[in-house]
Amino acid sequence: MAGDASKILQVAVIGAGAAGLCAARHLASKPHLFQPHVFEKEEQVGGTWIYTEDVEKNKYGFTVHSSMYKNLKTNLPKEVMAFPDFPFDKTLPSFLTHQQVLQYLKDYAQHFDLNKFIKFKTCVDHIKPVITSSKENQVIWDVGFRGIEQSSDDIETQQFDAVIVCNGHYAEPQIPNIQGMSSFHGNIVHSHHYRHPEDYKDKNIVLLGAGASGIDVALDIAPCARRVILSHNKNPLVSALPENMSQAPGIKYLKDNKVIFKNDQEEEIDVLMLCTGYKYSFPFLSPECNVQVIDSRVTSLYKHAIHTQFPYLSFIGICSVICPFPQFDCQALFIMSILDGSQQLPSRHEMEKDIEKDYNWRLNDLQFPNRYAHRMSNMQWDYNDQLCMMAKVKPISRVVPSIYDAVHHHRVNHLMGYKTDEYEITGPDTWRKIEPNK
Ligand code: FAD
Repeated sequence: MAGDASKILQVAVIGAGAAGLCAARHLASKPHLFQPHVFEKEEQVGGTWIYTEDVEKNKYGFTVHSSMYKNLKTNLPKEVMAFPDFPFDKTLPSFLTHQQVLQYLKDYAQHFDLNKFIKFKTCVDHIKPVITSSKENQVIWDVGFRGIEQSSDDIETQQFDAVIVCNGHYAEPQIPNIQGMSSFHGNIVHSHHYRHPEDYKDKNIVLLGAGASGIDVALDIAPCARRVILSHNKNPLVSALPENMSQAPGIKYLKDNKVIFKNDQEEEIDVLMLCTGYKYSFPFLSPECNVQVIDSRVTSLYKHAIHTQFPYLSFIGICSVICPFPQFDCQALFIMSILDGSQQLPSRHEMEKDIEKDYNWRLNDLQFPNRYAHRMSNMQWDYNDQLCMMAKVKPISRVVPSIYDAVHHHRVNHLMGYKTDEYEITGPDTWRKIEPNK
């Protein structure tokens, strides 16, 4: 099908969060080649940026998707967060509220006239390849979906030439197995369900995990809680922390209302909050799609995006520890260059060799644990450049990594202050403290 100019490719996009919107925006820019059909189970665009007070199920009985909490401010500044072709409003501060990011995504959808492609309140139930020729990538895709107000028997099916999966990966909590959990006397919650610090007033709380969420939520809770302990296996945070916040090693076990850390320190606590991340989940992909998730590794995806057996099944947003919106843009353009035939993929065998090489390099050279198969951090810029080069499109501006690195450095040393309006980013490596009287 690729390269057949007489045929407009019908492309199903699953999800209208930042990734799905970005896919739709680029597909829609070539109407002679592509027709996007976006499926979104929420009532509006924005995905994880749609804050809700609901924590378990929404009013339609669906599991709550968003992990946003009331006071969340972005941990990336707007200067690097934006899609390359759609800057944030200049009058906004560098670090944004979730409402401001949601508004940005709504503005993006409106600016590129994307809402007309989106079927809202429509949940994708299943996706299945239907082989149309002996060549294995010659398939069409059955996409089964239903209105969220309809019964689960009311599934409609439509066929598409290609599918781009953009369903996010911060919706299904990863729950570790800790000895003593089932008989623990206190509350155990996951950060996915965290909404307000007031719910933890005067509580003694341990947050397990010092990723971005663990640190940010601990700092948000500290002004209300009696005591906050951040338990993790990383090097201790170097920044100053609130007076009632301390750090401890990982948890050895739980007993009654006590947590026993790996250094045998014991603390009586009211709440254990698991800031232990999320699982990749694609409940709608049928077994025939041949997508496996093993130890947080989604296989087999060439360049973390293209299914090696079915190149017309692709994914945006699988990587972690990234600057998401700019990377989504690179991935969308990369996928489109395959769909429109302007880029020829290597053979399936070559692609699988490339994946194994990348994975083994992570495990052996970088000494990453298995679950870091899609973790990017400072590798993201080369990866983005590679996608852009292969897709023959303009790479992301060099200014983005410079600002990203500067913010990271500043954050590590000033966890309590780096998001406030006391600081202003004045250039790639420059940061100015704003004097209060100026
Ligand atoms: P999502 O936003 O999760 O969107 C996926 C969409 O798919 C949802 O709308 C969902 O309803 C829909 N969907 C899922 N399954 C189905 C189905 N079966 N049928 C139909 N629709 C479906 N990024 C930053 O750049 N800066 C930050 O400061 C930042 N802070 C963050 C803080 C938190 C707490 C979290 C959780 C994430 C943060 N991120 C941040 C990362 C954020 O996830 C990305 O920026 C980005 O919004 C992810 O977009 P996405 O489209 O991949 O996923």
